[in-house]
Amino acid sequence: MIIQNKISSFVDKQRLFFQTNQTKNIGFRIDKLTALEQSIEEHKDVIIQALKADLHKPGFEGYFEIMGVLGEIKHTLQNLKTWMKPQKIATPFHQFLSSARVYSEPLGVVLIIGPWNYPINLMFTPLVSAIASGNCAILKPSELASHTSSVIADIMQKTFDSSFITVIEGGVETSKEILSEKFDHIFFTGGTEVGKIVMSAAAQHLTPVTLELGGKSPCIVDNDIHLEYTAKRIVWGKFSNAGQTCTAPDYLLVNRQIKKELLDQIKNQIQNFYGDQPANSHSYARIINNRHFYRLSELLKAGEIIVGGDTDLENLYIAPTVIDQVSWQDKVMQEEIFGPILPVLEYTHLSEAIDLVNQQPKPLALYFFSKNKQNQEWVLQSTASGGVCINDTLMHLTVPALPFGGVGASGFGRYHGKSGFDTFSYQRAVLNKSFLLDLKWRYPPYQTKSKK
Ligand code: NAD
Repeated sequence: MIIQNKISSFVDKQRLFFQTNQTKNIGFRIDKLTALEQSIEEHKDVIIQALKADLHKPGFEGYFEIMGVLGEIKHTLQNLKTWMKPQKIATPFHQFLSSARVYSEPLGVVLIIGPWNYPINLMFTPLVSAIASGNCAILKPSELASHTSSVIADIMQKTFDSSFITVIEGGVETSKEILSEKFDHIFFTGGTEVGKIVMSAAAQHLTPVTLELGGKSPCIVDNDIHLEYTAKRIVWGKFSNAGQTCTAPDYLLVNRQIKKELLDQIKNQIQNFYGDQPANSHSYARIINNRHFYRLSELLKAGEIIVGGDTDLENLYIAPTVIDQVSWQDKVMQEEIFGPILPVLEYTHLSEAIDLVNQQPKPLALYFFSKNKQNQEWVLQSTASGGVCINDTLMHLTVPALPFGGVGASGFGRYHGKSGFDTFSYQRAVLNKSFLLDLKWRYPPYQTKSKK
């Protein structure tokens, strides 16, 4: 109850601040985005240390996470003035001497709930959009990345007044209590089951939600590829952050003709990236906790392990692993893997791969490797996914002007760049009439000639 009162008082305080209209001012928004940018720059080392403590995240991968946020801020600062400009709308003839515009207005007090896998990027990137759109925000980082959660709280407390931005740390119970409050938007990144809980809590207040969820993102490999680059890009996308990436290629669907060469090349690249003993590599992360370690260990009990397979509970280590000869009945193919395990399936004709993908829930990302333009177009035309990256993995996320989000089971709503600005705004339609002319025909008593 004490916590609940505290949460209510944060929300009330932010609502009062929002009503002062200060956040609507472009100068205010630019100042706050600049302050966020500076603060992140100043805390880079602390952030990287916290990510290391939570996930054993390699320094470079932590840096990559931070650069994503800084890139988002830069892109937003470059475009904010244009995005905020009211859009002129053409009016029909009978509205002669009037003007119509659409204004992008802030929603008010928004809630951002984040996951543990990219705890900095997935908390601060939506925050950039929320600030750019003129909102106040309450942030709830994941308790599973506890070091990063407290660094986020510390940075926000030093950078912003809590009547504008505040962090509430805590686990599931705290999250539930926060969700019982009324917000003007909830932006959730996490798993599908919790997404349903968030959506039903939001429904109590008719609060709009953005759900950034996960799923099994397929990686289809045609036989017409650059073998070495394909293998490198797949291995990097799959095993960065020890596979704990929402858009990681979940499984491989490879053309039978090229399968052996590709798997050999994947083996080589794993060795090149992480050495003979990936457990000793400073470039390889760890599993977040025991629960996920046990869950992933169960998934190893399928098919034939052709690379890796070693585990070490004490250090939460699971080697980069490739499993051949799996079937759709294996557990590893029935749930989102979210770890360093790459199952391999093969196909003879591309139509088979497309059919298999279409039998699954719509994924967050789809990867297709092929030089063949017709095949690229075919895959694009006949599948659905939140995003697509052709001939690479994950990199589509690094283009700030490309909308990011899911479809179907992988979520709904978009952010990054202008899409994020739109997500945290509402479109206010305004018609402005002149007093110079007043057409009589619309007023009673209606005449037959009015119909004309
Ligand atoms: P999660 O759903 O378990 O937790 C996310 C957040 O929800 C955390 O802050 C947690 O405290 C809170 N939460 C957990 N249970 C709750 C409950 N019962 N009620 C209210 N709040 C609750 O997700 P996770 O384990 O942190 O992240 C992994 C999942 O997130 C994967 O499925 C992954 O694909 C997905 N993900 C998606 C994206 C994306 O951008 N689409 C990015 C990262 C992760």
